[in-house]
Amino acid sequence: MNDARHGEYSNLLGHEAADELYARFVQTYAVNVAHLDPDAFERHSDTDEDALRAMLDAYEHEMDEPFPQDPARQLMDVLKSMARAWDGTSARFLRQARGAPKEAGLGLVVQAMAPGLGPPESGSGVIQFVTSDRGEAQITGRYLSQSQGRDALADEGAVFLTRDQRGASLEELCPEAFDKLVEYGSMCRRRLREEMQIEFTLDGGELSVLDAVRIQRRPLASVRIAVALAEDGVITKDDALMRISPGLLTELMHRQVDPFASRDILANGVAASPGAATGKLVFSSSEAQAAAAQGVAVILVLRETSSEDIRGMHASVGVLTGRGGMTSHAAMVARGLGLPGVVGASKISLNLRDKTLTAEDGRVFNDGDLVTIDGTTGTLLEGKVPLSEPELDDAFRTLLGWADEVRDIGVRANADTYEEARVARTFEAEGIGLCRTEHMFFDEDRLTLMREMIFAEDSEGRAALLERLVPMQVKDFTDLFRLMDGMPVNIRLFDPPLHEFLPHNRDGLRDLADAMNLPLSRVTRRVEALEEFNPMLGLRGVRLGVTVPEIYEAQATAIFMAAIAASDAGHVVVPEIMIPLVSATREVELVRGRIDAVAAAVRTQTDVKLDYKLGVMVETPRAALIAHDIAEQVSFLSFGTNDLTQMTYGLSRDDAGRFMADYVRQGVFPEDPFHKLDVDGVGELLSLGAERARAAKQDISLSICGEHGGDPESIAFCRAAGIDYVSCSPFRVPVARLAAAQLVVAERNHSK
Ligand code: PEP
Ligand code: MG
Repeated sequence: MNDARHGEYSNLLGHEAADELYARFVQTYAVNVAHLDPDAFERHSDTDEDALRAMLDAYEHEMDEPFPQDPARQLMDVLKSMARAWDGTSARFLRQARGAPKEAGLGLVVQAMAPGLGPPESGSGVIQFVTSDRGEAQITGRYLSQSQGRDALADEGAVFLTRDQRGASLEELCPEAFDKLVEYGSMCRRRLREEMQIEFTLDGGELSVLDAVRIQRRPLASVRIAVALAEDGVITKDDALMRISPGLLTELMHRQVDPFASRDILANGVAASPGAATGKLVFSSSEAQAAAAQGVAVILVLRETSSEDIRGMHASVGVLTGRGGMTSHAAMVARGLGLPGVVGASKISLNLRDKTLTAEDGRVFNDGDLVTIDGTTGTLLEGKVPLSEPELDDAFRTLLGWADEVRDIGVRANADTYEEARVARTFEAEGIGLCRTEHMFFDEDRLTLMREMIFAEDSEGRAALLERLVPMQVKDFTDLFRLMDGMPVNIRLFDPPLHEFLPHNRDGLRDLADAMNLPLSRVTRRVEALEEFNPMLGLRGVRLGVTVPEIYEAQATAIFMAAIAASDAGHVVVPEIMIPLVSATREVELVRGRIDAVAAAVRTQTDVKLDYKLGVMVETPRAALIAHDIAEQVSFLSFGTNDLTQMTYGLSRDDAGRFMADYVRQGVFPEDPFHKLDVDGVGELLSLGAERARAAKQDISLSICGEHGGDPESIAFCRAAGIDYVSCSPFRVPVARLAAAQLVVAERNHSK
């Protein structure tokens, strides 16, 4: 564009249009090519002619030369400036973020100009053929007469595209151009194998396509578009699988904070359980329950949670704790319940007596104040923030069905209750990979039983409790087996870290004394006697099984009775029984001997042929190192990478949240190792354990049931280490199914 071309345009389009074109060109050129101060090229004048004059003067003033008139010089300067931008820091970062190779070259398209100005009908617009939010087939976009670029999207005078919408439309104004656009749309879809948004210009009714870009899309639309393209044969199913980032599925399964909503952040913490919810602040489980009873949605805020808070968590729509990490109690329970959760928000301060929360910036919030929790990003937000609803549609199911066809490792769910197992089935887990039986005792009436059992000072007292426990567990397991309908169910024997089960305050002690009908002083003494300095490294898991054998024996009895009850002519239930926290082979020998004896007794009693599989959780470094010895004793090993991470680092699962953010920020850890498997350390132990176990017993089943089982990168590592299946929280099962499939497709694509 130069004076000569300006003259031609003046004759062709009229002065106004020509001035507008030239002014716009000078402005863009000055700012983007000559890198002059944009303020100097703001449009102030009313008429296009004045604006043009002002632009040309400003250019000459800033550059000490008149605006270049030679088309070749203009083009060369544009190309040079693009090349410079390509080498600039921000472009380099962007390329890196999008995975482009370092040496990626620059491509530039030089196009003929279609001005979109002047008579007869001229203008520009944007069209797309599916909606960005829901991926539904529908023509949307805008057209604006006498305009350029993407003006139509910002101008109120723009018209819709199709006849069936309000007011005038492009379809009526220029039917041929509209038909052609529709044709181009389907051509784009076929040839570019994508849903594209097309930028177009009309010049005297003549259609030009300027550009087409992949349409922006929300997660729901992403899945629908990929599935529709594959169903129409435009792309392969493999392509569709690779186009969806597994994390995106999480967004479809939970309510989310609307990405366009403004956020007033009060607290940052670990994004422990995805989803979002709005509710009133409460600072104790009992208040949460009271509020829920009146139908009030509440966000429960505590320093940390323990088994006493399960009911409060159940009653809340979200939970935030000041302490804790990815595998702390609050995080695991929230994930199990599908409840938005943020833990380790260590920069807030809580005053539980005054019921106040002091936000990171010093603002103080009270009991009853409205907040929104965002477990997907790990933040607490002020007030009510717009949320988007979860949506699991046919496309979601279809895509995961394709994933199941290709993946070569199994995906099970960690489910402790009937409710969680139901979610696991909805998300099509292939069985239960970890049922934490102590979590079956989180309910109020049962918690006391669990505590009494921990409390019992002699086997006589305990025997009476176990008599009550067995029928409960028989029912628990029978229901689970029936629900899972022949799929494998892996039941872990009790692993109750004592601090999660003992009362923490005077009220709790009093409640327990009441429930057990014992004097408070006696209960207090016993709690003190049981108190441990490091409960996570104390009398838990198999250590309880070895020292108080009748507990595991009672559980085994219940499992076998349930297996018999749930078996029918069609299928025989073969339960999997898992021993937690093993660190010595002898522990396995002892427990195995006792469980075998229980099985034999049940067989004799019931005259039913009974089979079961015994396995060990590898969650201490020592168990990984002696995996070959342990393997000889059992038919499966499952890596409990939560404890294995805790013990490999010597890093408390419940306290790590306090400094994890600092550690990651200063690059001590690349990521929170409770979230992403630490390949170098914990991963090395896992690989080594898997290798040693396989060497001792070729057909041993190997799995992972720590939280990492739901993380795509960790899944990739586990698959490479020869793991047969991963098991994760029910809500992460779809993510794991897709991630596992992508590993196979990526391998296939690589070998092509
Ligand atoms: C583990 O330690 O990885 C595990 C699955 O067990 P839990 O989280 O119950 O300790
Ligand atoms: Mg564990």
